[in-house]
Amino acid sequence: MKSHELKIYNSLTRQKEIFKPLQEGHIGLYVCGPTVYNNVHLGNCRTFVNFDLIYRYLLHLGYKVRYVRNITDAGHLVGDVDEGAEDKIGRMARLEQIEPMEIVQRYTLDFKDKMQKLNTLAPSIEPTATGHIVEQIEMVQEILDKGFAYERNGSVYFKTVEFAQKYPYYGQLSGKKLEDLLETTRELNKQDEKDHPADFALWVKAPKEHLMRWNSPWGEGFPGWHLECSVMSTKYLGEKFDIHGGGMDLQFPHHENEIAQNVGCCGVAPVQYWMHANMLNMNGQKMSKSLGNSVEPDELFNGTNKLLSKAYSPMIVRFLFLQSHYRSVSDLSDSALLAAEKGYRRLMEANRNLEALHAGGSSSGEHDKHIRHLIKEAFAHMDDDFNAPRALASLFELATEINKMKSGDIDLKHISGDTMESLKNTYHAFIFDIFGLKDETHGGGGNGEAGVVDGLMDLVIALRAKARDNKDWGTSDQIRDTLQKLQIQLKDGKDGTSWTRQ
Ligand code: AMP
Ligand code: ZN
Repeated sequence: MKSHELKIYNSLTRQKEIFKPLQEGHIGLYVCGPTVYNNVHLGNCRTFVNFDLIYRYLLHLGYKVRYVRNITDAGHLVGDVDEGAEDKIGRMARLEQIEPMEIVQRYTLDFKDKMQKLNTLAPSIEPTATGHIVEQIEMVQEILDKGFAYERNGSVYFKTVEFAQKYPYYGQLSGKKLEDLLETTRELNKQDEKDHPADFALWVKAPKEHLMRWNSPWGEGFPGWHLECSVMSTKYLGEKFDIHGGGMDLQFPHHENEIAQNVGCCGVAPVQYWMHANMLNMNGQKMSKSLGNSVEPDELFNGTNKLLSKAYSPMIVRFLFLQSHYRSVSDLSDSALLAAEKGYRRLMEANRNLEALHAGGSSSGEHDKHIRHLIKEAFAHMDDDFNAPRALASLFELATEINKMKSGDIDLKHISGDTMESLKNTYHAFIFDIFGLKDETHGGGGNGEAGVVDGLMDLVIALRAKARDNKDWGTSDQIRDTLQKLQIQLKDGKDGTSWTRQ
């Protein structure tokens, strides 16, 4: 374990707190996963990449992390229960006339494909709501037994008002006051069977046409959306666990009700640190399907989105996400992506330059000191509530030092072997392990396939240079055109020819 003092902003207390796991050296992390009824958009991806960054940093610090991220494949409704709401997945299945589980399979595969392209690490457990119906029924029964729920015509509702009166912290997470909740919640419909508008469904009686249904003590139905996360987080991480995350828009009602369910069932508030990631905007507006401004990752990766001038690779997108703190809004636009592309290339180039440097000086000059300071600073930023953009800024300052060492502006005699080693380790750890970036600007070197690509490209560039020396323009054009078809671009500079993948 590294001896870092990590601070996490806890949404529940609205302040940064020193992180202390419940069990020394171990962390239980739960993140609300996607509802698999359509392709993930880039906004969803940002939230999952943010928690991937957090997961990666915790691993880097040496914690043993059990990371649980669920797949919502039942229970997430369109509209309200008492207005003939329909399950999002069931609705798609009805419209497309296929099985709900076909919808689930299609979009789970899409989600995993995008997560892999964005180089996120797979969670330790990825449980599904439909795989935990039995446990959900059990929890509903326990809440009924404790007197915090009632059954009505085959559905079961949570007694929000009674609960809030007994546990005045209902509303603490989302900042809602009980009085406001009681006043602002809409009037009950005539056909409404709930006792109070603030009550929410734990179990919903399935209407005749509803495709997704299970037997329960209250008849055929399906679980309410908030229930699955209460059940699956505590099943795999215990009644009390360390960190629960999700997008900001899930604070209410989803997370507030999750707490209520767990407390209602077991009398224990489940989560030590609540973490909420901020939204991705598209040209200044929250990206969402319903607003019609959502961008699918593939549109961006293959350049088919009308709002963008060209294709951007997954690593450019990941880099763009890193440039905003997870609690700040991030804006996707063509100019932001172009800037991210430049920044990404600069970072990778500095890393390659660094790999070729060897220092052996013993004296520790001014630059040696500065480099050591920047390394410390980069980690300090990550320890301060995972501030990736600030850490990135420290890495860019280090890039300036690296490039000066390469050009000879800094004499390597003044850099000690220890500092150089620490610089290489830090740079490598940040770029690949913590930030989760891959070097796409080249094949990536090494002995594997990427190394072969690098070697072949060196050969192709040398042959082109020879053809040009011989004024064999036909051959040199043929090389450039063929490479362009393979989306490889050559750039001639004063230090020779370099290449990048588009
Ligand atoms: P859903 O599939 O709708 O349950 O959403 C999956 C995750 O994406 C949730 O954590 C949401 O909070 C998050 N999310 C939805 N829209 C955005 C957005 N525009 N930016 C960032 N996260 C989002
Ligand atoms: Zn959830």
